[in-house]
Amino acid sequence: MINTCSFCDPETIAKQEIVVSGSVRVLYPRKPIISANVMIMPVRCVEHIQDLSDDEIKDMFSIVKKLFLSFKDIYGITGYNFFANDGRVAGQHVPHMHFHFYGRSEDEAVDPFDVLGDKDRYQNRPRMPEDEYRKNIDQIKNSLLSQ
Ligand SMILES: [Zn+2]
Repeated sequence: MINTCSFCDPETIAKQEIVVSGSVRVLYPRKPIISANVMIMPVRCVEHIQDLSDDEIKDMFSIVKKLFLSFKDIYGITGYNFFANDGRVAGQHVPHMHFHFYGRSEDEAVDPFDVLGDKDRYQNRPRMPEDEYRKNIDQIKNSLLSQ
């Protein structure tokens, strides 16, 4: 059977993968709302949080701790939002369980929830320039690997 999941598509992984840590993959969104915005998912293609193994749950929270430290170093964040939309009724669009992570700071230029809560603004958000996109992936990767 061919896996048609967009997060498991080798092209997505080649373009968007920041790092694989244990059983968990961190992807950079195709159009991040802010620079400090990543998606965290199990490497294994499962749809729901309740499908995760105990090791995957442990690896998820371990990478969240590292992401906080990395984003604190890179972007000066002092807090973050970390959440999942689990189930179609909750707004899950890709049937591969994933968490969203948004680094937050006092002096942030954009409140990600202002964008998430505005359908037009969300759908028409600009694509990050390719050089900035690649630079952010490299910077986050290098920082995560040093945590
Ligand atoms: Zn998948």
